[in-house]
Amino acid sequence: MNVFSIDMGTILIILVLGHVLTGVLIISYRFQHNKEKSVNIFLMSKLFQSVAWIMLGFKKVIPEIIGVSIANSILFIGAALELISFLTLINSYNRIIKRNYNILIFVCILTFNVAVVYGATENIRIVFASLITAVLIVFPVYKLFKHKDSSLLQKVIATFYVITMISFLSRAYAALTLAHDMTLWSTNIFNTWSFLVLYLVMIVGSIGFILLAKEKLDFEIVKAASFDELTDIFNRRTFILHAKELISLFARKKEQISYLLIDIDHFKLINDVHGHYIGDIVLKEFAATIKAQLRDYDLFGRYGGEEFAILLPGTDEEDSIEVAERLRKTIEAASVSIAPEIKYTISIGVVTLIPNSDTNVDILYKLSDNALYTAKFQGRNRVVRS
Ligand code: GH3
Ligand code: MG
Ligand code: MG
Repeated sequence: MNVFSIDMGTILIILVLGHVLTGVLIISYRFQHNKEKSVNIFLMSKLFQSVAWIMLGFKKVIPEIIGVSIANSILFIGAALELISFLTLINSYNRIIKRNYNILIFVCILTFNVAVVYGATENIRIVFASLITAVLIVFPVYKLFKHKDSSLLQKVIATFYVITMISFLSRAYAALTLAHDMTLWSTNIFNTWSFLVLYLVMIVGSIGFILLAKEKLDFEIVKAASFDELTDIFNRRTFILHAKELISLFARKKEQISYLLIDIDHFKLINDVHGHYIGDIVLKEFAATIKAQLRDYDLFGRYGGEEFAILLPGTDEEDSIEVAERLRKTIEAASVSIAPEIKYTISIGVVTLIPNSDTNVDILYKLSDNALYTAKFQGRNRVVRS
């Protein structure tokens, strides 16, 4: 026995306990908090894998059909479920993918069992089982790497699964060349390496899954706290936060900024005549229309009700009036998608200044609000400068 030889009994017990204990932790978390589908799938994968490893461990003392066919089939399903839980978590497990992946799992299990029925030797069975596991990993890993907002964490997790895949491929190669006895209880460098990787991927998979779930939740919380639910633009708090940064940046650069306060004219009337539901749609479409008119670095937020603010960095008096007039005319010409008969207008108060260290968002708001009041007083549907 050399340094690379680990007692396989120990590895098996660790694998089973690892999956079971992870399962227990997730069950107790899930009990109170999270009913997310991906968590349930991950839990199922732990259950399948621990049962499969127990069966494989007792292979010599249980009927061959259970110790080989059923145990390996359950292991394939367990591995697939683990990968599916990741796909579900990153919202990449849609109907089409689900159907195709299920077919793949079915074909894999069928292939393995056909090989068993046709009397494949243990080494040939290992070749099949290893190749099948590698095949099951390919698509989920591709998705983790490639989907549109793949995070660093997702890429690192995917890399670990790639290493697992390579380990299975080399195990298949080792078993195929028949140079080694690769059966479960034999101790050699290939076996030690394969099972060590299995042990590591169990840990990386579990911690990775939990971190990924947290990453997703964090993102949702930040989004819910930063954006206005109805219009999907910044809420007042986030607008002010970003506005502060821009103001101090332009105070340092000694360049102009312009602040526009927009209020929809007679909005109460729209609600009263057409109902609150239509009112909401008007607000949504208004925000989308304005957003489409702005540059990427302009700030746009909902202050509350039908009052919105825009911060135009680096925009002087002349340009800010031009922008405000363009917005006013765009809204005047726009119609509401589900109620084209509705026409509405906006009033805008504009203030332009070179900020200094005393300038804050409150001052800009007060100055533009005065201008807005004048615009309303003068008959609405107009732009007034502070
Ligand atoms: P003015 O031209 O003077 O601005 O008149 P107005 O009717 O727009 O002004 P007022 O401030 O009196 O009315 C604003 C209305 O906006 C009152 C409120 O019911 C409505 N409102 C505020 N938030 C929402 C919302 O989220 N959805 C809908 N549908 N209505 C809202
Ligand atoms: Mg109004
Ligand atoms: Mg108002």
